[in-house]
Amino acid sequence: MTRRPLVAGNWKMNGLRAALAEIGAMGASYDAALEARAELVICPPATLLALAAEIAGPASIGLGGQDCHPASRGAHTGDLSAAMLKDAGASYVIVGHSERRVDHGETDALIQTKARAAIQAGLIPIVCVGETRAERDAGRATEIVGAQIMASLPSDAPQSVVLAYEPVWAIGAGLTPTTADIAQMHAFARETVEARLGGGKSAAVRILYGGSVKPGNAAELLGVANVDGALVGGASLRAADFLAIAEAYR
Ligand code: PEP
Repeated sequence: MTRRPLVAGNWKMNGLRAALAEIGAMGASYDAALEARAELVICPPATLLALAAEIAGPASIGLGGQDCHPASRGAHTGDLSAAMLKDAGASYVIVGHSERRVDHGETDALIQTKARAAIQAGLIPIVCVGETRAERDAGRATEIVGAQIMASLPSDAPQSVVLAYEPVWAIGAGLTPTTADIAQMHAFARETVEARLGGGKSAAVRILYGGSVKPGNAAELLGVANVDGALVGGASLRAADFLAIAEAYR
């Protein structure tokens, strides 16, 4: 089973219109040879999605949202539906990022309904899981990640669904797990995805690593078994850094 690597950038709450030039620069350097080896996606703030879609064009960098509401429409001031993100040019949406789990009290159950809504709207959800430092230190990392996968991933999700393993303590911290720890967690995550989806589907599911991926460590991290790409925060804001990470696949 070959899984096409995915390098996805999460811009979080960063980026005014001037930042669209970075997406333009990414698209300009995303040549056919690199495209054959890896899929590139940027998840800008929703305010920039439609403008980014005009810049990226249909055959270049893909786009994603950073969150969606579980409902398809209605009285939910300030929220965005998956259909709205798709209409604006997204083909992916991140759900369950640890910052939303913490800042907005998002539970696994809510995240599963968001992933379901995304699939129904024709988006591919990037479902995020990961343990805290305290949980890892207590020897509970696999227990926590396993429980998050089982409860956040819809059991009937198609194999196009993407899982992102992001240890919370590694995000924005300049720290990463050892490659042995990443290999162990990603193998466990694939087994757990199989337990959840069944039917051999897990062999096609891309499992991304996220947490302080930079140009300097990308080749090492992306070369780990069962790592099918990266979810990149800080280093996705600048085209040069994001492309340097993706270049690990060339
Ligand atoms: C993230 O927020 O998903 C992330 C991985 O951030 P960073 O790459 O900055 O650690």
